[in-house]
Amino acid sequence: MKPLAILGGTFDPVHIGHLCVAWEASELLDAEVRLMPASVPPHRTPPVASAEQRVALLRAALAGQDRLQLDLRELERDGPSYSVDTLEALRAEQGDRPLVLLMGADAFTGLPTWHRWERLFELAHLGVFARPGFEADWPAELEAAAKGRLATPDDDWRRQPAGRVLHLDVTPLDISATRIRGLLASGRVPRYLLPDGVFADASLLDMYSRPRAP
Ligand code: ATP
Repeated sequence: MKPLAILGGTFDPVHIGHLCVAWEASELLDAEVRLMPASVPPHRTPPVASAEQRVALLRAALAGQDRLQLDLRELERDGPSYSVDTLEALRAEQGDRPLVLLMGADAFTGLPTWHRWERLFELAHLGVFARPGFEADWPAELEAAAKGRLATPDDDWRRQPAGRVLHLDVTPLDISATRIRGLLASGRVPRYLLPDGVFADASLLDMYSRPRAP
């Protein structure tokens, strides 16, 4: 069975940077990849778009291909989306299948602030890729936790269900949802930074151009 890789995020909105890393990770790891939107991100300010709106954008973005799938379990659960809870559930469901939690270097550097972060290494491999514009400087505790776990997709990590830190060499794209929200709020149309599908229905992006309540 192919490994199962998860790209979690706010996806506020999903953009070409997310889709490109997810797609390339599926190739580099020969894995099934799922995009998993978070409900109440524990480390973040609340998203501008509602969960329903973010899912509608994700569905429009993923239409027309079947390599990248959507997994809505974090939105269906009450309370904050802790990755450790999600991975415990996936592990129980998937047996010994290799699981890979995908994340950019920005997210990985912040890992020691995540709920029960050390447990993540027991539940999944971590697939880490560069985030353009972000200088990765791992905190000492992360450096210590990752020591001895570093691997590349060509190494023999598939025999273990979890525990390696895989460096993924993906095409660098300096795109962020923050920038896209800024463009939309100032009346711009970020046509080629977002997947085509989200422009098919003009109302899908409406919430980003409305002034926000103070
Ligand atoms: P925001 O600007 O609102 O913080 P974002 O663009 O960083 O959003 P998220 O939904 O927070 O998007 O990111 C989810 C995951 O995708 C994170 O692991 C993040 O590192 C990764 N990611 C997002 N954009 C890129 C990109 N352009 N290149 C590589 N990784 C990315």
